[in-house]
Amino acid sequence: MVRVEPHTSQSVLNTLRIVNGGWVRHFINPYRGCQFGCVYCYARGDKYYIHEDFERRIIAKENAPELLERRLAHARSLRPDVVGLSGATDAWQPLEKKARITRRVLEVLARHRFPVSVTTKSPLVARDIDLLQEIARTTWLSITITITSPHDRVARALEPFAPDPDRRFSTVEMLADAGLPVGVGVMPIVPRVTDGKEDLELLFRQAREAGARWLCHNSLRLEPGADRVFRDAMADHFPARLPALDRLYDSTGTVADAAYLQARDRFIRGLRQRFGLPSRQPRWIPDDFRRVNFLVAEVLINRALGGRPGAGDEDEDDDGSSRPAPGNRRRLSRARPPASCHGPADPDRFWAGHRINNLPFCVSTLRDDPAYLAETIGARGAVVAEVLALIARFLPARRGQLALPF
Ligand code: SF4
Repeated sequence: MVRVEPHTSQSVLNTLRIVNGGWVRHFINPYRGCQFGCVYCYARGDKYYIHEDFERRIIAKENAPELLERRLAHARSLRPDVVGLSGATDAWQPLEKKARITRRVLEVLARHRFPVSVTTKSPLVARDIDLLQEIARTTWLSITITITSPHDRVARALEPFAPDPDRRFSTVEMLADAGLPVGVGVMPIVPRVTDGKEDLELLFRQAREAGARWLCHNSLRLEPGADRVFRDAMADHFPARLPALDRLYDSTGTVADAAYLQARDRFIRGLRQRFGLPSRQPRWIPDDFRRVNFLVAEVLINRALGGRPGAGDEDEDDDGSSRPAPGNRRRLSRARPPASCHGPADPDRFWAGHRINNLPFCVSTLRDDPAYLAETIGARGAVVAEVLALIARFLPARRGQLALPF
């Protein structure tokens, strides 16, 4: 029995300091709690402060569309950037069929021409194909259907109340047939449970056949507070695999076994090349003064992660677990890795890409490689490289706070 609590929110748009792997800058959660009740859900973690009865007590933010309208209509400096639906709930969980909060949020986003990134497990998203088509036509859209295992039995154990994998693949097909950009998210991969080679291969095959344009993946993180539910479910359904899983994790709840990650991602890289499925779609690029910043940042982030979207050649874990900590300021090597190279993310490019307003800080590394810029912005690349060189000459050594002046 699900208890629904109407709720009047104070704010609706959560802004990230840095964009995530899906290019999302803002998140909207129309609900708190999620009826799908996945045992690995990070939103059960302590830092999200969501009530204990996560899948049976759902808080519906009924005024979210009105709040959003007010925020977008009156914001002086809030320029469009990608809005993710959702961060800590599924915006198309069964309750949405009647409540229609997510649909009204989409209407507001479409009206204000904000690009949208959808992640869901629900076939109900197909109800909103008309709005999604409008958003894809007028700005930018990305839809990721999460499918962690091709097998009903495994999905049932991990995602007890979510639609079965076949229904999710049918949803991918329906959205692809409607001309929408849709991909599959194998998020998370549960080590020793859903990382079997045959299972991953089947996921890639089915995703391809359903019309997915990309397939992203990440590793399960064991968030403090959320791991209890996960461990109980593992003890119930896969008790023999728990010790092997535990051996891969460190005390922060992150997969820390480099050999495991490298072997798994090498295998996934092979699948990407075989099935022609990159890890995500190209970034949304605004048509205003931020354009070049976003283009350069996209190249930096893609390079840092070892490839580029669309090339079918990325193999890094999208959760950033292999990303370096900021502060490692080693000099970039001029030698570019081959597109299919697998290795640690490059910290300079990664953090320069994420701190768009701090790009001048990394201008010396950019200046050293004008080929990147030429590749990014075509004929203007050489001019941009010249300007960057000039900026670099006059920049103080400390971190700059300037946006690139073009
Ligand atoms: S569908 Fe997403 S938000 Fe809902 S329980 Fe599962 S992982 Fe959490």
